[in-house]
Amino acid sequence: MSRLPRCFPDPCPERRGLLKRGGALALLLGAGELAWGAGIVAVRVWPAEEYTRVTIESDQALTARHQLMESPDRLVIDIDNLELSPAMRELVGKVRADDPFIEGVRVGQNQPRTVRLVVDLKQATAPQVFRLSPVAAYQHRLVFDLYPTQAPDPLLALLREKTQAEQQAARSVQDALGEFIDRMDRPGLPTPPPVAAAPKPALPPAAPPMTPAPPPPPTAEQLRKIDRLIVVALDPGHGGEDPGAIGPSGLKEKDVVLAVALQLRDRLNAIPGMRAMLTRDDDFFVPLHERVNKARRVQADLFVSIHADAFMNPEARGASVFALSDKGASSAAARWMAQRENASDLVGGANIKSGDAHVMRALLDMSTTAQIKDSLKLGDEVLDQIGKVGKLHKRSVEQAGFAVLKAPDIPSILVETAFISNPEEERKLASTEYRGELVKAVATGIRRYFARNPPLARNRTL
Ligand SMILES: [Zn+2]
Repeated sequence: MSRLPRCFPDPCPERRGLLKRGGALALLLGAGELAWGAGIVAVRVWPAEEYTRVTIESDQALTARHQLMESPDRLVIDIDNLELSPAMRELVGKVRADDPFIEGVRVGQNQPRTVRLVVDLKQATAPQVFRLSPVAAYQHRLVFDLYPTQAPDPLLALLREKTQAEQQAARSVQDALGEFIDRMDRPGLPTPPPVAAAPKPALPPAAPPMTPAPPPPPTAEQLRKIDRLIVVALDPGHGGEDPGAIGPSGLKEKDVVLAVALQLRDRLNAIPGMRAMLTRDDDFFVPLHERVNKARRVQADLFVSIHADAFMNPEARGASVFALSDKGASSAAARWMAQRENASDLVGGANIKSGDAHVMRALLDMSTTAQIKDSLKLGDEVLDQIGKVGKLHKRSVEQAGFAVLKAPDIPSILVETAFISNPEEERKLASTEYRGELVKAVATGIRRYFARNPPLARNRTL
């Protein structure tokens, strides 16, 4: 049962004035597009810590106005040229109790041709409202993204954890150093050599030491840990409105790659001195530039985007690894793949009006050849390891213009784990065991990359 609140003003008589006062965004259409009685195709809610998205999909573009109201916090949305339908009422039951932003939704026919949604909020939000034109399997979409007004930085926890781990590493090196100096200072021992000096093999010891030999000075490895924790950004592709590729039995790429990324995060976090962060840890959509932005905010040393391939021919099989290219794609297939993955923003529904996106895109276009060179080295190591647990689609790292690989300063690869469109590989991707082998291979590849290309000391501060 829907119940309309008694307290809010009728937004209709002075629409323009109200829109100005409320700072609301009107989504207006050309007169030709307006038609009475749009049909609701589906309503969806994507709750996540970062933001909750509400999508109303219809067979015609919808015109909506919204207004935020306080005490209690709620978002009132009026959708014109719409009659209340059972499909619209479904929204009420789609709100999860653990939704971080939405307490509940009420729907009602506010006026003969206007449906009113009242979204009761758990916290003050800054909504972004926008429309998406039909794309892929979707018809017209009206989207409400509810962001917190005081955005808790989702990466703050990682930064805090990272700082703690770095301090801990610094302490353990200092302890080792302290113990070493301590022992050196004890009487009865020969004059301690300077910490960094190499022992002089030509001089035999004057007398056998009375105490156990001093511990070896801290290794270069230990010293590096003082200001160096390796951060790996893991990027499970797609999410939310964007399912990615879908296998013959219905397995979705967005679900498989999230499972792989979560397993890989745990595996990398178990390696001393390494921390993994995820660009998404749940089923919600993250625009491509925002994925890169997140990695840069934690000064990630690597960026690994995880996907599962699809092709018209169900026989296509094997894993591939891609890096960015600055001079065109290495093959027609690589170009096609980049176009397909870059379409994620359209399918998933990025709000292209947000100014940040443009600034970020311009910045990301400054990719360097050094980044590509390192990405290829990383790609080689990962491809080598994956080749040991499964089939490879191509034996070398391919290159194309993937938007998600454009961090100018972070070696970045995109791993197509297998072909989800191939029934046999779809089965493999669905199996925890196979995913475990894959995760182990990628983690080994990452480790080998760092063993051969040790990270430089940080010269930036967080
Ligand atoms: Zn993908």
